[in-house]
Amino acid sequence: MKAIVNANIVLYNSIIFDGVILIENDRIIDFGEKSNIKVPSGAVVINAKGNYAAPGFIDLHTHSSGGKWFFEEPEAASAYILKHGVTSVFPALYYNMDQAEFLKGIRDLKAASKQGAGRIIEGIYMEGPYLNPKYGCDAANYKWNEGVLKEKYQPLIDEVGEFAKVWCIAPEVENIENFVDDVRVMDPNAVFSVAHSEATPYQVLDLVPKGLKLATHHTNATGDLPKYPECRGVCVDEAVNYSDDIYAELIVDSKGIHVDPFMLKLVLKIKGKDKVILISDACVFDGPIPPGYDGVTDINFDFDGQIAGSKLTMDVACQNMMKHTGSGICDLFKFAAYNPAKLLNISDIGSIGVGNRANIVIVDDKINVKQVMLNGELVKVL
Ligand SMILES: [Zn+2]
Repeated sequence: MKAIVNANIVLYNSIIFDGVILIENDRIIDFGEKSNIKVPSGAVVINAKGNYAAPGFIDLHTHSSGGKWFFEEPEAASAYILKHGVTSVFPALYYNMDQAEFLKGIRDLKAASKQGAGRIIEGIYMEGPYLNPKYGCDAANYKWNEGVLKEKYQPLIDEVGEFAKVWCIAPEVENIENFVDDVRVMDPNAVFSVAHSEATPYQVLDLVPKGLKLATHHTNATGDLPKYPECRGVCVDEAVNYSDDIYAELIVDSKGIHVDPFMLKLVLKIKGKDKVILISDACVFDGPIPPGYDGVTDINFDFDGQIAGSKLTMDVACQNMMKHTGSGICDLFKFAAYNPAKLLNISDIGSIGVGNRANIVIVDDKINVKQVMLNGELVKVL
């Protein structure tokens, strides 16, 4: 038995000051105000020192951490991200892979998820293969140009199975519905996400009944299809803002470059606190910082000078969200833990609750990570 004491416990929309959390093996078995929870003698006591105890971060969409690609060095990437408070991660491969590279990436991530820090890998975020290369970095190397062909994609579906938690698609790709239908044969509850796309709003909304519930890095890598000169068109972002069924991922870097701070406030107002998900989308392209981006530290550039994901961790993404929008601690943990768990329909992570996994992060009031607990075990923080 373990007891986290002297903690301000972060719940969905309230805080228990001076609270206690009891943990048995890998589960939370009770929590509440100090006066209501008796710490059994013999329990290992963990003093949170007046900091906040909250559900471990969930990074729904990332490619790397600590400068390591998940598909190449999953254990090292997992260990780094875990020390930054992420207790569940859904690594993405990379859509410029060919079929053989996808299959290898899937096998390697599945194997890595069974031991060590790799246990935080709870599934794969399939960013590809069918996206619109016009809206992605390194478009010249896109390997899936020859159309949506069953013999090319079915081996991917078969290999990854339900370990795929999100399937990204550009709805405008010709015959994409064949792919969507075959994914749904494998997993009728598959979650689809509109990504790297210039679809019309109707092409996006038509897929909602088939499980499209997410917008990949909302407002990034999408078209705006101007219909007439000097008139703003409508495209993916407008459909995502319009639909109450679609969650919006946001990459929140320190200078508000991926998403301008005004746009963050606007998205928050339109989508509401229950439909926003912070992600890191961390990558390791390490191209030089192009002119006009002086002083940028948490964005990745490819060798063409194009923005290619971030160098964020989830703690820093929360800090940036707090800075840009004034969001409070309960809301930050909605965006970075509760909402992604809800999207994926995983009920025992993403919140502090009796019976939930003891995946807990202890942070100060600026979301600096002090301690991390994974499955009831403390992890050494950086
Ligand atoms: Zn992307």
